[in-house]
Amino acid sequence: FYELVVIGFVYAIYENEESVRQILHTCSTKTDRSLDDGRCEYYLEVFSQRTTSRRKSIQIIPWFVEDSQWLAETDFPSNGYGSWEQRLNSTECINRTVFIGALHGMVTAYALARICQELFGDVEYAAIDTDRNKYPIGSGRVVFVNAHSYYAAVTANYLMIECDKFCKVIQIDPYLSDSVTCAGANGQWCQNMGQFFCRSLKCMKYYCETCWDLNPNHAITQNGINNSVDGEPPALIHKPLMRNSRTP
Ligand SMILES: [Zn+2]
Ligand SMILES: [Zn+2]
Repeated sequence: FYELVVIGFVYAIYENEESVRQILHTCSTKTDRSLDDGRCEYYLEVFSQRTTSRRKSIQIIPWFVEDSQWLAETDFPSNGYGSWEQRLNSTECINRTVFIGALHGMVTAYALARICQELFGDVEYAAIDTDRNKYPIGSGRVVFVNAHSYYAAVTANYLMIECDKFCKVIQIDPYLSDSVTCAGANGQWCQNMGQFFCRSLKCMKYYCETCWDLNPNHAITQNGINNSVDGEPPALIHKPLMRNSRTP
């Protein structure tokens, strides 16, 4: 007879929010002193089915829906936009927005904003992407107040978050708009949609497939590897990003 030891996690989606409250009530709690947001850790005692004498404590991690978004308390002028959503999708805002990938599931929008603020400068808004059940899917975005912070974050590209709960390398890329026309090539206008964004600090522009290839900086070797100068900083390497290629 085997004793199966499972190390891992499961997701549980309840039909009612009340059930989450009930399970948290049953849990024992441990206040987390490293966080100043008043949150605590929840542990549930479970009994093995075979022998009731075996007790195990499992951690329950609820996701608070309000943790998906964080907005700076300062009142930013809406600048004539009807809603926040409209403002966030404006070109002016997208030019200050970074996409965050490979995010740890326990990072809240507030924590993400604070990390980015400390490293790169003031943050206006942060959001964690969620699935249809409003549970985090491992990506998010941050809107900086200044373009300077945006460029600092994009240049960094990768960030290692080390705390007592986890250690993880997160990825920072420009947040892309899906409705920008191609920047053209060789001084020629182009009316195509710019489906590829060149993340090199020398470009930082949207191109269609044709104009991408026409750009002398985008010469591709036979291996498909960018023909960049050896030893060039990663932020200067011409690398195409696509809006729909973010989520693997
Ligand atoms: Zn084009
Ligand atoms: Zn380029």
